[in-house]
Amino acid sequence: MDHNYLRSAIDELSKEWEIDKRIYDLTLGRRNDVKDTAIQVNEMIFHIPTLTNDNLYVLWDCLWPRCHNCCDKQGRLPLTIKDIEVISEKLHYTKKEFIDNETRISSWTESESFGDVITSLSMISLKRITEETDEQDGTPLSCKFLDNEGSCKLHPQRPGCCQIYPFTSWTTLTNGKPQIHATFQFDGRCPGFYLSKSFDDMAEVLEHYSKIIVEYNNDVSRTTREGYGFINIVDLRSKP
Ligand code: SF4
Ligand code: SF4
Repeated sequence: MDHNYLRSAIDELSKEWEIDKRIYDLTLGRRNDVKDTAIQVNEMIFHIPTLTNDNLYVLWDCLWPRCHNCCDKQGRLPLTIKDIEVISEKLHYTKKEFIDNETRISSWTESESFGDVITSLSMISLKRITEETDEQDGTPLSCKFLDNEGSCKLHPQRPGCCQIYPFTSWTTLTNGKPQIHATFQFDGRCPGFYLSKSFDDMAEVLEHYSKIIVEYNNDVSRTTREGYGFINIVDLRSKP
């Protein structure tokens, strides 16, 4: 993510929310003591950033309904085939009408897990505003499905990417067996991060997200298998 964009996003967030200086610095890549702590929860491995100088984990909890910043500053809404099926039905479209009227193609690259995993994607994405253009892809827009109370008009069929935010996930193969991983996106939009000496504080959240992220990854796999999206993952840690 562009550093200037990130800086203005976290500065703007800091005007509305009290952001711990250490999390502010982490977001801007100013900490050189960040270690990845891997935690297995059910079928998933979570990669929790750890500030080793302070001996603290970076944890998260959602502040909704006090906050709906991720919907107000939404950058992109890539859809799984399951999203396409359930949202088209909710909006009373056929699948084809929904794709023609409410979506566009987005292509972008992501870097996860401290820059070790690079993912290139091309996906059908839900338009956040009716006349969304290619130039607006990745730039923050207030999503048209956000209502005046801060709720999503698509709920409970909101897109999988919204359900798993601020996590991002990827799959690796170990001895031919897929392993799903997840870590946080620090994109300057979410005020829900906090520091703690124990990740037990986040145990219930990790338990809940371990299930929905696995489900989301299965949906993403089906999406690419059925030709509704393209994903290429390069895990630099597995390179010699
Ligand atoms: S689709 Fe719903 S949950 Fe997703 S950004 Fe829009 S309002 Fe928020
Ligand atoms: S920005 Fe973060 S805290 Fe706010 S609603 Fe979204 S996930 Fe929750």
